[in-house]
Amino acid sequence: MEYKILTYPDRELKKVSSIIEQVNDNIVELVRIMSDTMLKNNGIGLAAPQIGVKKRLIIVDERAIGNQSKSIAMINPQILSYESFYDEHDEGCLSVPGFYGKVSDRRHYIKLKYLDLQEQEQIVEFDNFLSVVIQHEIDHLNGILFIDRMNFVEKLRFKKFLKENTNK
Ligand code: ZN
Repeated sequence: MEYKILTYPDRELKKVSSIIEQVNDNIVELVRIMSDTMLKNNGIGLAAPQIGVKKRLIIVDERAIGNQSKSIAMINPQILSYESFYDEHDEGCLSVPGFYGKVSDRRHYIKLKYLDLQEQEQIVEFDNFLSVVIQHEIDHLNGILFIDRMNFVEKLRFKKFLKENTNK
C-alpha cells in the first residue's frame, strides 16, 4: 500500500508530531506503508507526518550510505549530542518536489536514541550523509522543512522556483 506524500505549502507539514506511547501492530503496519511509499518515490528517508500521520516515527534507507537497500525505523528519535558542522550541501525533500537548496547548519556527527520495532532502546552514532538524512527527517517531526534552514539568497531562489512552477 502506498500513501500520498503531503507537499509544501501544506499546513500539516508545519505541525509538531507526538510521542509514540506503544509500539504495537499499528506502528509496524505504518512502517510498512512508509517503506513502500519511500521506495516508490525514490526517497532515502521519510517521516510519518509526510504522509499525514503526526507521530514521531522516521525511516531511513541505508542506500544513503551505499549499502543495499534496507530501511531502518526509528521511533521517538532524539539527538543526544552532536559534533562539528557538515559541509554546505544541496538538500531535497519528497515534500518539496523538484527543488534542491543549500543547507549549511547540519551536523557531521550525531548520537541518537530511539526505539526500534521491538520497542528496544537503541543508542547509535551516525556520521556523514546518513547523519544529515536523519537530522532532516527529525526536523519533519518538529514541523521544520529544509527550506526553513536555507539562507536569504536560497529562499529567494525558492520563491522564484515556486513562481515559475505555479505559472505552468
Ligand atoms: Zn523531507
